[in-house]
Amino acid sequence: MTSGTVQLRRRPASGGSSVRRPRPLGRRLYIETYGCQMNINDTELMEGMLAERGFLRVEDAADADVILINTCAIREHAEQRVRGRIGQLQRYRRDNPHLVLGVTGCMAQRLGPRLVASRDVDLVAGPDAYRGLGDLIDDLQANAIERGQTLLELDTAENYEGVEAVRAAGVSAWITVQRGCDHRCTFCIVPYVRGPEKNREPQAILAETRRAVERGFTEVVLLGQTVNSYRSGEWDFPRLLEAVARVDGIRRVRFTSPHPNDVSEALLDVMAREPAVCRQLHLPVQSGADRVLKRMVRRYTAAEFLGKVDLARGIVPDLALSTDAIVAFPGETEEEFEATLELMRRVRFDDAYLYRYSPREGTPATRLPEEDFLPDPEASARLERLIVLQRDIQREINETEVGRTCEVLVERSARSEGDVLGRTERNKMVAFAGDADLIGSYVDVRLTGTTGVTFMGVRCG
Ligand code: SF4
Repeated sequence: MTSGTVQLRRRPASGGSSVRRPRPLGRRLYIETYGCQMNINDTELMEGMLAERGFLRVEDAADADVILINTCAIREHAEQRVRGRIGQLQRYRRDNPHLVLGVTGCMAQRLGPRLVASRDVDLVAGPDAYRGLGDLIDDLQANAIERGQTLLELDTAENYEGVEAVRAAGVSAWITVQRGCDHRCTFCIVPYVRGPEKNREPQAILAETRRAVERGFTEVVLLGQTVNSYRSGEWDFPRLLEAVARVDGIRRVRFTSPHPNDVSEALLDVMAREPAVCRQLHLPVQSGADRVLKRMVRRYTAAEFLGKVDLARGIVPDLALSTDAIVAFPGETEEEFEATLELMRRVRFDDAYLYRYSPREGTPATRLPEEDFLPDPEASARLERLIVLQRDIQREINETEVGRTCEVLVERSARSEGDVLGRTERNKMVAFAGDADLIGSYVDVRLTGTTGVTFMGVRCG
C-alpha cells in the first residue's frame, strides 16, 4: 500500500489568484484532501467531473457553495483530524443554509451511515461512487432530496476511465493505473474501503501520459495499491512501464507501491534497460519475522523478501531501496522484533516509513486475542529503536554519496531563501542555491553534504 503519511493539502483554485471574482451561483467548489497520493488523484478526478457541470474550484471554504472533504481512513488520528475539521466547517452551514457539505474518500466509505447520523454533513460518497456525486449535489442544491445522502457502493469495475482529471500544479504527473486491492493484509483497511483491484486500459494510461507531456510534465509516477500486479488483457506491469517510459517527452518514470511478490525479473529488466525508469524501488516489508508476516497475511517469508532484494540489486545497478515496516503487530515477541531490526541491518534501506501497529476497526487483526496487543510504552519503545537504527543506516549511506554529481529535477523553493529543492533519480532530495524559475527543469548538482536525510549541493557548470 502507499505509505500512510497524513498530510493536509489545500490547492489554490486554477490560476492561483486569491482575488474574489463573481462565480455562477451555486457552482463554487472547495475541496480539502487528506491522506495519500491516491486521494489527491481522486480529488483531481472529482474536480474534473464537477468542472463539466460548471463547478469552479475556490481556495477558501468561506467562498464555497459546495465543500467536499476527501478523507483518509488509514490511521485513527487521520479520522480524528477530519472530525475536527467537519466541526469547524459547521459555521459555514449555519451562515448559508444552501451550502452542501460532503465527505468523500476512505473515511466516508468506512463510516458512511454514522457520519450521516451525526447530521453534520449533507452527503457521504465512497471512492467508487464519485460518478454519482454531481447528480447528488444538484438534487441537494435544488432541495429535491433530503440532506444526509450516502453513495457507498463498492464497484468491481469502476476505474474512472474516460474522466479527465484536473491535474494539480507540480513537476510530476501522478497517474492512477490501478484502484483497489486484492490482498487482505490483516492490519489494512484499504480492501474494505476501496474494493477489489481494478486496472485501467493501457491505451488510456498512455494517452493520459501523452497529455501530461503536452502540459509540460516530464516526470510521471504510476500509482496503484499494488501497482506491479497490474494486468489488462495482454499487458502486465513491465510492459506498461516500458511503454510509458518510451512516450516522447518523458524523462523520468517512477511507480508506487509495488508488492514484493510481484517484483519479477521482467520488471527489473525494464528498470535496468529503460533510461527513463528511475533507479528507485519502494518495497514494503512490514516485518522481518515469518510468524508475524503470516499473521499479517503478507504472503511471503523474510527469506523470500530478501531474495527479491538480492534479485533487484543484482539486476538494477545502484538501486535506491525504501520500505514500510510496522512494529508491535499483535503477538510480536521481542525475538520477532529483533528479526525486523536484523532485516533492516541486512538490507540497509535508503529510506523507510516506520509505524507502530494501530488497530483499524473492521480489519481482521483487531480480532486477534486481546492479550496479544502490546502495551503502549513497549510498542513505542520498539518503534523508537527501529527509527534510531534506520536513521543511522540512512546517514551512513548518504554520507557515502557526498561528492557525487547527480541530475535533479527541481521541485520547489526551499525554506531557506534563495535555495531550491530538487530530487535525484534515486529519490534523494537536494537543496542548493537557485531561483524559483528553475522549478521544473533538470540541473546537475554536486552533493556537498548531508543532514543524514537530505543533501546540500552546488550547481555544476
Ligand atoms: S491489503 Fe496489503 S497489499 Fe493491499 S493495500 Fe493494504 S497493505 Fe497494501
